[in-house]
Amino acid sequence: MTTIDSIPVVVGGPSLPQERRLVTAIPGPRSQELMDRKAAAVAAGVGHTAPISAVAAGGGVVVDADGNSFIDLGSGIAVTGVGNSHPAVVAAIQDQAARFTHTCFMVSPYEGYVAVAEALNRVTPGDFPKKSALFNSGAEAVENAVKIARKFTGKSAVVAFDHAYHGRTNLTMALTAKSMPYKSGFGPFAAEIYRAPMSYPYRDGLSGADAAAKAISVIEKQVGAANLAAVLIEPIQGEGGFIVPAEGFLEAISAWCTASGVVFIADEIQTGFARTGAMFASEVLGIVPDLITTAKGIAGGLPLAAVTGRAEIMDATHVGGLGGTYGGNPIACAAALAAIDAFEHDGLVERAREIGDLVLRRLAAMQAADPRVGDVRGKGAMVAIELVEPATGEPDAALAGAVAKSAIAQGVIVLTCGTYGNVIRFLPPLSIGDDLLNEGLDVVAAALAGA
Ligand code: PMP
Repeated sequence: MTTIDSIPVVVGGPSLPQERRLVTAIPGPRSQELMDRKAAAVAAGVGHTAPISAVAAGGGVVVDADGNSFIDLGSGIAVTGVGNSHPAVVAAIQDQAARFTHTCFMVSPYEGYVAVAEALNRVTPGDFPKKSALFNSGAEAVENAVKIARKFTGKSAVVAFDHAYHGRTNLTMALTAKSMPYKSGFGPFAAEIYRAPMSYPYRDGLSGADAAAKAISVIEKQVGAANLAAVLIEPIQGEGGFIVPAEGFLEAISAWCTASGVVFIADEIQTGFARTGAMFASEVLGIVPDLITTAKGIAGGLPLAAVTGRAEIMDATHVGGLGGTYGGNPIACAAALAAIDAFEHDGLVERAREIGDLVLRRLAAMQAADPRVGDVRGKGAMVAIELVEPATGEPDAALAGAVAKSAIAQGVIVLTCGTYGNVIRFLPPLSIGDDLLNEGLDVVAAALAGA
């Protein structure tokens, strides 16, 4: 079959019934049919977390073709912060699609792109003149931030950190730390990338100041500020395990960059747009980056990404050095303007904090009752548990995998992460209600107890 005729039409968005509902085993027959077609038609390297055929989503649920309704604790990896098919985002997309779908901003510019740049310059941290450039994906934004920093400084080296994730393109694979599955077999990687130790309070036991001193020593001895264009860091690491650095770590690294003529780039692709209980995690952690990369939550699910930062750095590149056919697509820009408006005016920053309080309280109770929960950490609606062997503190990836699998079978979509694969992360859409959130956590707690 090569059509989607078999899939029933269900309208998504916040009006979908907000309930967990299992009417078949997971995967149900229609989902299984899609899994079979996927296996036959889609390259094996493209994996999936939940073996379902999604047909609608909104509020805090994802509905599959068999009529099962899942509680969404993943937001499509931190994308649908405003909620799936947010009405204002849908209206903006429909309106823009009816006007024009593409001109290429580099050929015939349009207002939406400029308005998104203005909005990003306004909402990102830093009380100085800023400029932005738009791209299609997070990895592409990171690549361009590195290009811009190199051009501005005239230097080539870039420092990234242990446990970092920055994407799957060639340069971003080099910046990403974890080999399997992101890099293994895909080299050779881009040159002039160096790795520094990350502050990981649960595992290194260091204060922020000590962890920063250690990282700065590595940077000075193994690279040298004279060769270094940029330090690139996720304020809270995402794929690496929701690692929140010890207090003072980021400030110290950022201050060293400023004193050393090195561009400090915060990768806020996963942490951005209200997720951590502020518009950007940099605000929560007390830093003002020179450049910020954004994507994911920016446009309510449409592919859009950006580099935003100090105007003098952003303007260092010659005309034609930045861009791309689709970067800042008009429909994605219309969606972003609606999404950013929702983040600013629908109380979503406050909602992220409330979600964080609720989830952290529930996870702390789980930790108190179960020594396999080694650590509970996170900010706002970006929180996680790290599962370990209680006697040794060794990472327990098998347990994390089993808990996630069991939760999905019970109708709750949760994601794992971490260099050691032993972290369960909670990234609910900010449109989820407390009842659904509590029910989702009940299911995860039961999955853990039963594992
Ligand atoms: N940086 C970070 C911090 C990310 O979390 C991701 C995606 N998980 C990326 C970069 C890459 O983004 P994309 O998948 O859109 O290329």
